[in-house]
Amino acid sequence: MSQVITIVQLYPEQMNIYGDHGNLLVLKRRLEWYGYTPRVIEYNVGDTFPDDIDIVIGGGGQDSGQEAIHADLMNIGPKLKKLADDNTPMLMVCGLYQLFGNFFQTSQNKRLEGIGILDIETYGTDERLIGNIVTENESFGEIIGYENHSGQTRLGEGAEPFAKVVKGAGNNSEDGHEGARFRNVIGTYLHGSILPKNPQIADFMIEVAVRKRYDDFHPNVIDDLFVDLARRTAKDRPR
Ligand code: GLN
Repeated sequence: MSQVITIVQLYPEQMNIYGDHGNLLVLKRRLEWYGYTPRVIEYNVGDTFPDDIDIVIGGGGQDSGQEAIHADLMNIGPKLKKLADDNTPMLMVCGLYQLFGNFFQTSQNKRLEGIGILDIETYGTDERLIGNIVTENESFGEIIGYENHSGQTRLGEGAEPFAKVVKGAGNNSEDGHEGARFRNVIGTYLHGSILPKNPQIADFMIEVAVRKRYDDFHPNVIDDLFVDLARRTAKDRPR
């Protein structure tokens, strides 16, 4: 039996739009190709929060979805914070990225407190930032995706931007930053989904997770023939 890596997907019932489910499929499949056994746990409102977690992912959702999961997320917030402090790799997209911050104030002026893992704040606006997006990150290189959000995010002192915007909007319509990072927690607005077109991020998460649990990482070699084609097609699309 090969070594097991446990992935928790947060709130797939509400927080899973614009292809975000693809992130789970990529992590699962690449773990298998590398010779590991993925164990996937879908965590929804009211579930018992699992133990022995190696990777946490979460997607985007409408403001109403964010409101629906909010109370439950606040309950499990301290557990997620502990995992983040312990360097667990996490990928939070859009709606959950916003709620991993300090707060999200909706355009209806309703303030949803966040769980404060990322030092960011988000304000709902009347402007929708929508379209294909290309960003650049020092370790991961060019990152290609799709954004669709009316919340605009500002980074506090305690968060570093995840990437610089090359084409598109990112966190807001002004500062040219996309996403935020704290330890191995990555928050981003990129849907599309992000990991199929940017598997270097999935590989980073997998390697951190495997080394944390088993010390050594001995991956099989995998063939990414189709990744370049997918990246090129996605990148050439107009905004
Ligand atoms: N409701 C949030 C916004 O529009 C999140 C949207 C999303 O997750 N795509 O800002």
